[in-house]
Amino acid sequence: MKAYKSGKQRRAEICAARAAKRLRRPAPAAQPVQAPRPRGTAPVAPGQLRPHNSYGEPDFVRRGYYEDLPFRCVDCGAEGVWTAVRQKWWYEVAKGDVFTTALRCAACRAKERLRKEAARRAHQEGLLAKRAAKHRLAPLPFG
Ligand SMILES: [Zn+2]
Repeated sequence: MKAYKSGKQRRAEICAARAAKRLRRPAPAAQPVQAPRPRGTAPVAPGQLRPHNSYGEPDFVRRGYYEDLPFRCVDCGAEGVWTAVRQKWWYEVAKGDVFTTALRCAACRAKERLRKEAARRAHQEGLLAKRAAKHRLAPLPFG
């Protein structure tokens, strides 16, 4: 004979099954305790970074914030600080490569920019001169 169960009995069984299931499920991994971000740092927004996949995560992504970085200018040797806010701008707004860091002080950066512009201009002028010379050398049709 088939035993029919009351709704109350069924509910009790369902509750018991759920409780058992809860016990079987592994405890949720403890959330890593986010240390408060130190003063003078800037938070990292990983979604804003230029895509990077082959070299792992840069330190600031693992840490979760940018912090002021001291550096020495490669041109004049001056000591400088690449601030957290400027790093955030470089990586997230200018989309600089996540593995690049500050190399030059502000003055040398300005000088370098001028040097590059001059080099580019010289290159362009050289190309134009070459093209003009090529046209002059072209045989004239029944001159
Ligand atoms: Zn410098």
